Amino acid sequence: MTRRGTEALPRAARVLGADVLPQLYGRLYDRYGDLHWWPARSPYEVMVGAVLTQNTAWRNVEKAIARFGDRLSPRFVEEARIEDLAEIIRPAGFFNQKAAYLKTLTAWFKGYGYSVRAVRPEPLAALRAELLALRGVGAETADAVLLYAFGFPVFVADAYALRLLSRLTASGASVRLEEARALFTAGLDASLYGNAHAMIVANAKAHCRAKPVCAGCPLADLCETQRENIS
Ligand code: SF4
Repeated sequence: MTRRGTEALPRAARVLGADVLPQLYGRLYDRYGDLHWWPARSPYEVMVGAVLTQNTAWRNVEKAIARFGDRLSPRFVEEARIEDLAEIIRPAGFFNQKAAYLKTLTAWFKGYGYSVRAVRPEPLAALRAELLALRGVGAETADAVLLYAFGFPVFVADAYALRLLSRLTASGASVRLEEARALFTAGLDASLYGNAHAMIVANAKAHCRAKPVCAGCPLADLCETQRENIS
């Protein structure tokens, strides 16, 4: 997409230019490569991980998922007592809340017979609305489930992506979630969304932290914040 083609897009897109997105992807790919995200043995494990990762580090999600052993399935979660479920996922934190959220998300999946094939033909907008209506499922969780569990072309605009866009465009905290989704959706091929999200997270941990470490960042020459800091 050309800069002219971004006129209908939100402010961050006009500042950055959606045509920068392929460059951004290329820089990150040269540094981080294919990160094979989301690491899970099944679409249902993605759903569980998307809930458990709320407000905690991924290593805690891994510990919680490991405690299921070979029991991790929608039927197990459906039938487990909520106290037992909470105990299993304790390492992920907020375990009582998250046990309830897992029950709710699993009940939603049951409406499709626990079948990915039954979910796939449904309209994306309707599915997203269904997920967002569930207690404990916000935009980031819904989009992660839609992209990584069911393979829908949805960009996961999480806090890391918003921070990155804010800094690339020197927009302070003004880049909104829907704005970020629109920009990435317009600028990147849908087949790249999964790895783009994973690489943005990797770069946020290595460089674009709460206090940015710009030296060596693969995006430095595309970044307004970096330019302002050195001028
Ligand atoms: S150059 Fe600095 S502020 Fe810009 S994306 Fe990289 S780490 Fe973040």
